Amino acid sequence: MSPTLDLPAMDVAARLPRLRARFAAAGVDALLVTRLPNIRYLTGFTGSAAVLLVGPDDTWFVTDGRYREQSREQLDGAGVTAHIEIAPTSAAQRDVLAPVVAGCGRLGLEAHGVTWAHQRTYAEWFANAELVATDGIVEALRRVKEPAEVARIRAACAIADDALGELLPTLAGSPTEREFALELEFAMRRRGASGTSFDPIVASGPNGAKPHARPSDRRIGRGELVVIDFGCVVDGYCSDMTRTVSVGDPGADARRVWDVVAASQRAGRDAVRAGVECVAVDRASRDVIDAAGWGEAFAHGTGHGVGLEIHEAPRVAKTASGTLEVGAVVTVEPGVYLPGIGGVRIEDTLVVTIDGAEALTEFPKDPVV
Ligand code: ZN
Ligand code: ZN
Repeated sequence: MSPTLDLPAMDVAARLPRLRARFAAAGVDALLVTRLPNIRYLTGFTGSAAVLLVGPDDTWFVTDGRYREQSREQLDGAGVTAHIEIAPTSAAQRDVLAPVVAGCGRLGLEAHGVTWAHQRTYAEWFANAELVATDGIVEALRRVKEPAEVARIRAACAIADDALGELLPTLAGSPTEREFALELEFAMRRRGASGTSFDPIVASGPNGAKPHARPSDRRIGRGELVVIDFGCVVDGYCSDMTRTVSVGDPGADARRVWDVVAASQRAGRDAVRAGVECVAVDRASRDVIDAAGWGEAFAHGTGHGVGLEIHEAPRVAKTASGTLEVGAVVTVEPGVYLPGIGGVRIEDTLVVTIDGAEALTEFPKDPVV
């Protein structure tokens, strides 16, 4: 039996008014929300099929027959008022939405969530409306987490910490990467996680040189670095953490890479605070690795937002825009990858607070276990 996690209630119903307050600046009178994480954020609905039309005053939630009861339960549970319509086919969806959109004026579509095919369909359905491409309008709201959202991410991070603590000693028995990844997943689910936030990365020895290696049947040997990047989901919210460890001494060269990445990660963490530009956090981490001469071997961004999605706004990268706000949850995860030799990545998930930042992943970083 999974333990029941004690989580504070979220004020989901307060989000639709906050979204409408952004309509004028986005140049829309209504928004058709089609990205499922955004629908979940705005309504509490966790199913796999729905569209949400947010008009100037009213909201229409359209799903199919499988979700008739669930949608009513979840929207009521969240205190969200919407016209719930069951539309089993695309034509039925059109019949529900087209008359409503006709009275709405400028209709926003989520440019990053609508396929070309859907755009063409909507242009046909809503021939009399002006369609406007919006750029992450709901995602912008999601950048700043409410305390109850942070509580969920914190709970997911605590489960991941605890699971890794249980399993690290088993590395000494030389499990395969795949076996270790599977045990991690079990350990997190046993503690109440609903699943993993992404397929865990367990990359040992030379496999560690691939930042997104898939766990293989390779046995994790003594004295070699293993990159363990994993997370779980609690009530829809993700955690994300990477540790790089070795059973016994990995040798002087590996130690040096590890020390540089650890210093880089510390520098990035120290830069995380309200008002800082996302590029500045990236630069803080990158400068340390550049100075050690491994700049080319750090071929990804320093971090990303974490929430209902494992990768969400804000990005923390060389080309990122914007600043961190209080309530932003971001990772700091520099890495150095040396083909043929291996890799080191160290990652924490942090929440930006009024007076700095707090790490939600607290597992010790010691390289030798
Ligand atoms: Zn990660
Ligand atoms: Zn990450």
